[in-house]
Formats: sequence, structure tokens, C-alpha cells
Amino acid sequence: MHWNGPARFNAFGADITGPWRGFQISRALLDAALLQQAASAGVEIYQPCRAHSALTFEQQVIGVEADAGCLYASYVIDASGAAGWLGRQLHLKARIDSAALVARFGYLHGQPARYASNPRLLATTDGWTWIARIGPQLTHWTHLAFETDALQTVRQSRQMLPEDLQALPQSGTIRGADVSWRISATVAGDGYLLVGDAACRLDPASSHGVLKALMSGMQAAQAIHDSLSRPLLRTAAQAQYQRWLRGWYEHDLTQLRSFYRLHPFPPRWLGTDRVKED
Ligand SMILES: Cc1cc2nc3c(=O)[nH]c(=O)nc-3n(C[C@H](O)[C@H](O)[C@H](O)COP(=O)(O)OP(=O)(O)OC[C@H]3O[C@@H](n4cnc5c(N)ncnc54)[C@H](O)[C@@H]3O)c2cc1C
Repeated sequence: MHWNGPARFNAFGADITGPWRGFQISRALLDAALLQQAASAGVEIYQPCRAHSALTFEQQVIGVEADAGCLYASYVIDASGAAGWLGRQLHLKARIDSAALVARFGYLHGQPARYASNPRLLATTDGWTWIARIGPQLTHWTHLAFETDALQTVRQSRQMLPEDLQALPQSGTIRGADVSWRISATVAGDGYLLVGDAACRLDPASSHGVLKALMSGMQAAQAIHDSLSRPLLRTAAQAQYQRWLRGWYEHDLTQLRSFYRLHPFPPRWLGTDRVKED
């Protein structure tokens, strides 16, 4: 993934086997596959089921009051994404590392030949646009404007699309998502862990959102296993999870800042460390 021009940047990462590769899958397919795996591993699934409030006893989270009633647990994992449900319930503070960022995204019927095999990330005068074919005759786009004063309207973000895409008919509505860079000050505590976007998030150009959601779920399960099997090490297991997640976030934050410094019109707020606390 790189901006147009000579500067190249390996956004996915690399290890001794070579550069990491990016894969694309529709959210519905991935969700269904993960749910099926969980069910076959013996997980009891309630769906749909909204979590309303956290149940606590002496500062410890002991369960969830949800559509399905009161569910008690040794640990509650919050995987509510940008909603950050449990963080709000517990009034956890967060560090915000960017200006307010809203990604607009939509779908188009059709598939211009130049996007047929490889997705593209295009630098625009106000940010970037990501374009990818995600199915036969279906093209996805995401547009992000860097500056708060340029938070684009739906119409403006469509106008940032390359001309060959502007001509294509829209499929569904254009939507927006808060993708401001943010990490919760506490991602593990007595009786709870935060995973995925509920714990920390960067904008989609970091390209690790789904991977981080999956891997933080696995690490959280390990932390819970460790603290239940060796209760004396409970605090250590929570601290280890917090260090692991924070380390990854800080690494990706540095990478994303480097990437944006190569942008022909970099965000003005880029040099500002720790923009504010929430
Ligand atoms: C436009 C856009 C494009 C992106 N592109 C990419 C990409 O190409 N690659 C990539 O890796 N990442 C991408 N991301 C980021 C990626 O989508 C997220 O990082 C990832 O989905 C986070 O997963 P999650 O499970 O933590 O949260 P989510 O996927 O947001 O899932 C959270 C779930 O919790 C549910 N929920 C919320 N509150 C409650 C409640 N109270 N009770 C019950 N359920 C609740 C929500 O309905 C939702 O189903 C993109 C993000 C955006 C906005």
C-alpha cells in the first residue's frame, strides 16, 4: 500500500517469511464463519442480544445485564467496537492521538478494469480514498478527510472519487464511522478486558483493525485462562495483556504517522503528541 509517487511503505508489516499480505472478505461472511467456529467449540450464543449495563460488586465486573437477562461471569470481554460499551459504563479514560476523524464509505455497482485485481489507496488533497473490488460488479470505497474543518459531507466525499467511479450507480447508502485514533487508559481490570476497537483503534489506513480484533480476542482468552488457573497471578496476567495491546497500538501509531508524513498533503495535527484525553 503506498501513495502515488516514489515513496513506498509496507503498511502490513513483514517477518522472516517476507512481507505480510492483505486479504479481503465481506464482514457478513467473516462474522458468520467466526460464529460458526465459536458454536462448534461449545460457545452458547445469544443473538440478537444487546448488553445494557455492567453488573459490578465491590469495583469488580461480575456480569452483564442484557436482553437475555442477567448473565454472570468470571470475566466480561467487551468487543463492542467503536461503541466502547464497557469503557463508557466504567467511565474509563482514553487517550486521543488524532483530530476527530470520520471515514465515509459506500458501494458502487460496477467494476472498472483498473480496480479489478488490486485495491488502490489514492492520496487526495484533503486525505485519502481507498477503492477495492469486493465482489462481481461491486466496488467499495472509503474516504477519509484529515482536518476537522474539512469533515466532508456525504456529497463532498463522493466528489473526491475518481471520475470513472463517480459515474457508477450507488448501492445502498453512504455511511460514516468515527475512526479517531484512541486507546483506553485501562484495557484490563478486575473482571473485565477490552478487545478490538473497544480497546484501541486507528483509522483504516493502519490496515490492522480486523487482525487486531481477532488477535486481542485470543490474547484476552489467554489472560483469562492464566488468571483463573493461577489466581495469585491475576494482576500480572491483566498487566501483561495491557502491555501487549499498548505495545501493538504504539507501534502501529508510529507506522501510521510515518505513512502520513509521506502524504503529499499531510495532516496539520500530525506532529502533535497526545492531542487530548477523553
Ligand atoms: C470504513 C472502514 C473501513 C475499514 N477497513 C478495514 C480494512 O480494510 N481492514 C481492517 O483490518 N480493518 C478495517 N477497518 C477497521 C475494522 O472494521 C475494525 O477495526 C474492526 O471491525 C474492529 O472489530 P471489533 O470486533 O473490535 O468491532 P466491530 O467490528 O465494530 O464489532 C462490534 C460489534 O459489537 C456490537 N455492539 C456494540 N455495542 C453493543 C452492545 N451494547 N451490546 C451488544 N453488541 C454491541 C456492534 O453491533 C458490532 O456488531 C475499517 C473500518 C472502517 C470504519
